[in-house]
Amino acid sequence: MTGLKKTIVRGGLETLYFSAAHHLMRPFVAGIGVILTLHHVRPPRADQFQPNRLLEVTPDFLESVVSWLRRSRVDLIDLDEMHRRLTEGEVGRRFVCMTLDDGYRDTLQFAYPILKKHQVPFTLYIPTSFPDRLGELWWLVLEAVIARNDRVRLLIDGEEQAFECATVADKRHLFDEAYRWLRSLRTEAELRAVVRDLAYRYQVDIAAFCDDLCMSWDELAKLAADPLVTIGAHTVNHVMLAKVPEKSVRSEMDMSRAVIEAALGVRPRHLAYPVGDPTSAGPREFRIAAELGFNTAVTTRPGVLFRAHRAHLLALPRISLHGEHQQLRYVRVLVSGAATALWNGFCRVNAA
Ligand SMILES: [Zn+2]
Repeated sequence: MTGLKKTIVRGGLETLYFSAAHHLMRPFVAGIGVILTLHHVRPPRADQFQPNRLLEVTPDFLESVVSWLRRSRVDLIDLDEMHRRLTEGEVGRRFVCMTLDDGYRDTLQFAYPILKKHQVPFTLYIPTSFPDRLGELWWLVLEAVIARNDRVRLLIDGEEQAFECATVADKRHLFDEAYRWLRSLRTEAELRAVVRDLAYRYQVDIAAFCDDLCMSWDELAKLAADPLVTIGAHTVNHVMLAKVPEKSVRSEMDMSRAVIEAALGVRPRHLAYPVGDPTSAGPREFRIAAELGFNTAVTTRPGVLFRAHRAHLLALPRISLHGEHQQLRYVRVLVSGAATALWNGFCRVNAA
């Protein structure tokens, strides 16, 4: 996210909070519930260059969010119960579902003890190549290459270009530009080729990120054994599904479910599209997820759930707890539905 966009988002959240507009808007925008998303939960680090920091929150912040939710008049429920309420059209108390993506080890170390203490059910979406130790966490490769070098050469449209990145400011700038460019590539294969080439030339061990950061199958089995935990599918290779051929979309979804069933003995009924924005998951992916028989599938399109989502169970919105906005007052505005209503122009369902 650019600095300007960050300022606007934060400014909007502040304005809504301090004007109390989110209270007035509640009857129109609150919907029936919310699915929250988390990635890393771990103590803060001192590094100046942390371009992926938006994907992490601190244990203290999670504790404050969960304590607030427990004090609020909401039900904390799992995805099967959410699915039941949506399909049966039950409108009771508003609900919140917790979801954690990717299966990072800090889920077990830091998030789980907090969620367990407060008896909060939660879903883990697992890309099976991560515990299989074959995953490519390409955004961390890009971070590592830029962090460890003062000058980086990138192959752009077949032409090698050099970028200076000796200072923190230059590193941040280069990361933002390179990330945006990688995400704009037409296919996942092109993106992976660039990142593999970078890792090779700058001696970054791609597979090591899985070992260092992601849970093993044994660790996942510990969590899966807890009735609070639902295991969801998140494809095999964590690909942007809209950027791979239809056959691969199908096998990525189906294989990940089969591998999780073989490894953990539970067949996932719920799916999360990797990355999850409209460039990564659209109508074709929603259709295939439905054909494969998933009960629900979540995007990262921001929004709360309305009764109308009953007809869009394979394209559900979520609200991300963002590392750059770790303030309880922002979470209150987000969970109220007011912020996402404004961002979405008061459009309730976005499944196109
Ligand atoms: Zn993910």
